[in-house]
Amino acid sequence: MKSRSHNAQMVIERLGQKLNRQVVGSLAACVHCGMCTESCHYVLSHPGDPTMAPAWKADRLRKLFKRHYDWSGRVFPWWVKAGSVYTDEELEELKDIVFGKCTNCRRCSLNCPMGVDFATFNRLARGLLVRVGIMPEGVAVVSKDQWEIGNQMGVLKEDYLETLDWMSEELVDEVGDSGAAIPVDKKDADIVYTINPREVKYDPRTISDAAKVFWAAGADWTMPSEGWDMTNFGLFSGDDELGGTVARRVYDKVRELRGSKLVISECGHGYRSTRCEGPNWAADDIAFEMESSVLTMLNYIKEGRIKVDRTKNKGSYTFHDSCNNARSCGLFEEPRELLNMVVSDFREMYPNRAENFCCTGGGGAMSMAEYTPRRLKSAKIKADQLAATGADFVVTSCHNCVDGLNDLIKHYKLPMKVTQLVNLVADALVIEKRVAEPALVPQVAEAPALDGYTIMVVDDEPDVREFLCTVLEDNGAHVISASSGEEALDMARAEKPDLVTLDLSMPGQDGGVIYEKMKRDAELAKTRICIVTGRPELRKLIYEKDLPRPEGYLDKPVSEENLVLNARRILELAKEE
Ligand code: SF4
Ligand code: SF4
Repeated sequence: MKSRSHNAQMVIERLGQKLNRQVVGSLAACVHCGMCTESCHYVLSHPGDPTMAPAWKADRLRKLFKRHYDWSGRVFPWWVKAGSVYTDEELEELKDIVFGKCTNCRRCSLNCPMGVDFATFNRLARGLLVRVGIMPEGVAVVSKDQWEIGNQMGVLKEDYLETLDWMSEELVDEVGDSGAAIPVDKKDADIVYTINPREVKYDPRTISDAAKVFWAAGADWTMPSEGWDMTNFGLFSGDDELGGTVARRVYDKVRELRGSKLVISECGHGYRSTRCEGPNWAADDIAFEMESSVLTMLNYIKEGRIKVDRTKNKGSYTFHDSCNNARSCGLFEEPRELLNMVVSDFREMYPNRAENFCCTGGGGAMSMAEYTPRRLKSAKIKADQLAATGADFVVTSCHNCVDGLNDLIKHYKLPMKVTQLVNLVADALVIEKRVAEPALVPQVAEAPALDGYTIMVVDDEPDVREFLCTVLEDNGAHVISASSGEEALDMARAEKPDLVTLDLSMPGQDGGVIYEKMKRDAELAKTRICIVTGRPELRKLIYEKDLPRPEGYLDKPVSEENLVLNARRILELAKEE
């Protein structure tokens, strides 16, 4: 008898424990009609490759089910194509399929006449592999952060609270009301507002824009100091225990604050995890209401609590349905209704709603750097869809889609930008003054955002270096640059920059080594460092060492807006210390 590795045995046993009526139905029902084939973006972008077909991918798990848990596979294994796994190499091959050839977008599920939901058991297969430690490095890193730090981007509590403070100040400046603020841990508020950690790290403007909308509506709201991350990597990794733990943290905090309603910012997988799947994973009966911020903003306009002027948002806009919001949770019409209230030129993308194609960054794909070339190739269909609209902006209610779309827009060189509804609503607000006009003061031109700071850009790729330097210079910084770690160390000692943007993957001494040297050097230890990397899995070069966390962290490709916002955030917080 063929011997079987410990991991292979564990996977088979675990499969038996995870079978339920829905999964068995999907595993047993496929008649191999092929109707789902053309619905998958991997198939459409890899013509002639049968291993991309949903039914072929599903058969890799189905054969295990048939062999070990279905009578037909035990009696006629050759007839029903039953099979088993014996080695860790075979499990690695399964990993490549379930993590690298499917974003769990569920488009094939929708097109199956037999009701086979491949994405559901693809997630199950991911969970089986995660259980034995076989997963892409990025999945391991992000899961660890969410287990241990409480959010999937490793944002520390003090950084989160400092960012809220900073956004509160921005709000006061912007609306001219000294009483405006982002309340934290306020008890008995109508709304507890939870966000995606990406907003703290890369896109704090979405927090201040949401705060502006709540302020304009006169909302009774708060943000929690803990349990604020409504994203849930358990949805992507297939780890139900992680899913339940993360969801429970959010629910418990809402109960502790005695909030009436949990509002979830624009994030497809966060919305699906927290509102739809989380109560099951956490085995929790939720007594409070949960809604997407899209509905909250839409209702504010309909109820006359905020006024908007759609002519303030110039240009043409299309809308990308996030797979999780639309296909899995039915949020089709509300975002369109809201979008039409805040822009004048909306152009539908085809196909759309439940038939829309994935941004190709879904299912956690953005954290799995090893599959990036395949992901970007599969994004061709999405790029064609976007280009056909001719719109200046693509709007999406999902932070994951923002990253996926930005990546493919850059790769396919599309003349288009990505934005979210909260940004458009905030920009369209008609604000009626609530405070006395301040005494007239002479107008002075606002200084550029990074005026007076010296920033050192360290990157071995000339085009990236040039882009970062240009953006920072255009925003007033004095910029110096280095193309290697060695050069960076010498330059940092000589020039004493206020901030360093540091690439991790460089020939010679990589960014991890340089980071450690700087943080252990008495002269350089206080220099602020923002990691800018295209290889998120390299974070462990820093995070696994006994070192302070970097002051900032950005994944490539970096948008101009994110770079400036984050540089400013780091430098402003440094001033307060
Ligand atoms: S459409 Fe459904 S039944 Fe047909 S091959 Fe795809 S999964 Fe199987
Ligand atoms: S869930 Fe989406 S990515 Fe996965 S096989 Fe189906 S259509 Fe393809």
